[in-house]
Amino acid sequence: MQLQDKTFVPYLSEAEILAAVEKVAHAIAKDYKDEIPVFVGVLNGAFMFVADFLKRYPHPCEVSFVKLSSYQGLTSTGIVETLLDPPDNIEGRSVIILEDIIDSGRTLKELVHLFSTTKVKEFKIASLFYKSEVYNGEYTIDYVGIDIPDKFIVGYGLDYKELGRNLREVYQLNQKHMINLVLFGKPGAGKGTQAEFLKEKYNLKHISTGDLFRYNMKNETELGKLAKSYIDRGDLVPDEVTIQMLQDDVEKNPDASGFIFDGFPRTTAQAKALDAFLATKGMKINATIALDANDEVLIQRLLERGKVSGRSDDQDENKIRNRFDEYNQKTAPLKEYYEEQGKFHSVNGIGAIDEITQRLAKVIEEL
Ligand code: AMP
Repeated sequence: MQLQDKTFVPYLSEAEILAAVEKVAHAIAKDYKDEIPVFVGVLNGAFMFVADFLKRYPHPCEVSFVKLSSYQGLTSTGIVETLLDPPDNIEGRSVIILEDIIDSGRTLKELVHLFSTTKVKEFKIASLFYKSEVYNGEYTIDYVGIDIPDKFIVGYGLDYKELGRNLREVYQLNQKHMINLVLFGKPGAGKGTQAEFLKEKYNLKHISTGDLFRYNMKNETELGKLAKSYIDRGDLVPDEVTIQMLQDDVEKNPDASGFIFDGFPRTTAQAKALDAFLATKGMKINATIALDANDEVLIQRLLERGKVSGRSDDQDENKIRNRFDEYNQKTAPLKEYYEEQGKFHSVNGIGAIDEITQRLAKVIEEL
């Protein structure tokens, strides 16, 4: 099923969804049969859940809505706006929030904040869908319909760019046609340069761990301060730091049609962590492509680049040689790791930039 530029595949049938609604209604009915609770639906996504829930709620109750917004397209903007305030006259009442989906917990935090000044008797949260894998755990979710994996879903009230809310079933974003590439090669091999061309040609998101670290160093973030001493010496930043940073960046781009990983993985531990992490998202590496060039050519390229970019690790031949040593010791063994999976390819990295792009494109198109 196509919605705008994305393809979605069936995930939950109407019967499965209604069984989950029934389960939530039954659990709440048991707890609130002796009073009249106020159900508060969170618009827009929860309207269908609220309707089906109320039809299955057997005791007297009231209903109202609040409206919040945080998603644009597939990516949470992180900004939650209140567009419709909590109802009046809820003082002393039991309020039960009806949410369509809880993922990171950001919207939930805003909801709790919204009701924090109301003098309700009790404040409970019910969510039809719940992504336990990514929920930050800040508040207890009192009633859950279905625990789902961290994939983008539409249907049954939930939208992609405002479409799909009217579907009776729930669909998942189809990630089968993604291309995920690792660009492999020593510093100066041209990974960043080629990634710029490939990302345009194949509509991929380019993630360079080196660029991410430099961005953090420039902005003097905690991560940047931590990475600086390693990078200044030409050493690798510790795996746990790098892996976390990479995962965070992939998660920021759930709508990408694929990724180019540049400068990651650089150790076997990183390669294994990447495979395990991608698997949790139904994704995988399709190919690792190495750009080959000899050390003397690379040293000249890096020293030239250092004059323009001001990168301190490119200006000193000793630091460059240290980066090559790190590569030979820690990164080169990855060739075998990917060869065993039948994913390793290499192209000659010496020549004109567009010639090299064509060599890479040939490998990608034959995948
Ligand atoms: P690059 O721009 O890819 O040459 O990276 C510059 C520096 O950032 C490297 O020399 C390392 O100190 C650090 N770095 C980049 N990627 C990684 C990684 N995957 N693991 C550890 N350190 C990294």
